[in-house]
Amino acid sequence: MASSSSAFSSPSFINGKKDLSLSAFAPSSFAIEKWKKTIYIKIVSAVAPKISERKPSTTGSTKTHMTMTEKILARASEKSEVNPGENAWVNVDVMMLNDITCPGITGIFKKEFGNNAKVWDTEKIVVIPDHYIFTNDERAHRNVDISRDFCLEQNIKYFYDITDRSNFRANPDYKGVCHIALAQEGHCRPGEVLLGTDSHTTSAGAFGQFATGVGNTDAAFVLGTGKILLKVPPTLRFVLDGEMPNYLLAKDLILQVIGEISMSGATYKAMEFVGTTVESLSMEERITLCNMVVEAGGKNGVVAADKTTYKYLEDKTTAAYEPVYSDEKARFLAEYRFDISKLEPLVAKPHAPDNRALARECKDVKIDRVYIGSCTGGKTEDFMSAAKVFLAAGKTVKVSTFLVPATQKVWMDLYTLEVPGSGGKTCSQIFEEAGCDPPASPSCAACMGGPRDTYGRLNEPKVCVSTTNRNFPGRMGHIEGQVYLASPYTAAASALTGYVTDPRQFLQ
Ligand code: SF4
Repeated sequence: MASSSSAFSSPSFINGKKDLSLSAFAPSSFAIEKWKKTIYIKIVSAVAPKISERKPSTTGSTKTHMTMTEKILARASEKSEVNPGENAWVNVDVMMLNDITCPGITGIFKKEFGNNAKVWDTEKIVVIPDHYIFTNDERAHRNVDISRDFCLEQNIKYFYDITDRSNFRANPDYKGVCHIALAQEGHCRPGEVLLGTDSHTTSAGAFGQFATGVGNTDAAFVLGTGKILLKVPPTLRFVLDGEMPNYLLAKDLILQVIGEISMSGATYKAMEFVGTTVESLSMEERITLCNMVVEAGGKNGVVAADKTTYKYLEDKTTAAYEPVYSDEKARFLAEYRFDISKLEPLVAKPHAPDNRALARECKDVKIDRVYIGSCTGGKTEDFMSAAKVFLAAGKTVKVSTFLVPATQKVWMDLYTLEVPGSGGKTCSQIFEEAGCDPPASPSCAACMGGPRDTYGRLNEPKVCVSTTNRNFPGRMGHIEGQVYLASPYTAAASALTGYVTDPRQFLQ
């Protein structure tokens, strides 16, 4: 059992069963002590238990039992099997670039392949301006201009352009945040390999594919060849079981996982999520889960494709895809189990995504603003969740509340979709009644700070509750800003009180 894990660089806690959660929180009350005893994780095995209802490998008959990640990489490298630690030349299905990486990559591409070189496939490269869009910074505009020139020169099919920044709706091609645009535009497909020059490319693992971020040099090589040399990661398996309480969202789940294993707990490892809770999650929630695996150092995150996946893809792609699933006897480096029914709303305190605390433990933390947006927390369902809290409370916000839809489609949803139980109101109506700022133009906006005139940026040392994914010093602007990462429920509840607030205050 333990021997299969010893082939890799095993964490010190690999041997035997161990309750890892008790050190995560400072003792404060009987209730918290009780919580600590009921929310637990154990590494119970380095070998996967039986999984029912999963199809066998589609990579052919092999002697080696493989995880989903290994199978995808085996097929993409035209091998019958691969092993963790092995280097493999992998054929890439989709290569995504954004506005802040495209110019540098095209420079490397031309230097290494020649001024007149052509990309390997004009339909497998996706270029998405999203980071520094709604700003007066000329250098940011230049990034988009260089990206456009390259896409026109190379006849790249998927370039989601913006030319009129005064009104994003005048740009029908413009989407917004790359990871959500990739999903909405049908570029994420089970069993495939998707690379992006952005660390949160891991988001696409929600579709049962291998998806990870790469640097500019690797990306330039992919542009020229369609291939990348990848070391096959070992897989950690996270079993999330139990009915999800109505005050939790996927953001709480991933904050729990990261808090448990730390920011380096999954360094260069695949993180596979299974269990009844995961199976019950929508695609957008699975994206949230996989989005933040990189905050634990994960190479990729992955959720097996199922009927939820196929339903989501129905109207998004006509491309043929072939899912793969982990073998029953696949070799997992370690397995972590969580009883989600006992979990409470969480936050990550400044200045690290693994600085986990119960939201109610931070109830005395006064805040200056709330930010709801990004690839992690700016999807339609994220705003629906925030609206649900505002609706239940029937109150107005106590602090500035910034709303940044991830994409143009999300923005449209806020003005057109009815919020369940609201008597026909849309998110935008509920947000207006609650006193929030109107939904901004879709982009990354202040998630990564950006130029000083970026909407929602922390230009002073303020305290912010945010649905984004990183809270390192300076991430959202000011080096002394303090960012509490939270779910849309917790963010909305905090906006209503002006303090970090457990959403059960309004949802129960
Ligand atoms: S929203 Fe934030 S985390 Fe997501 S791609 Fe943009 S800057 Fe990166």
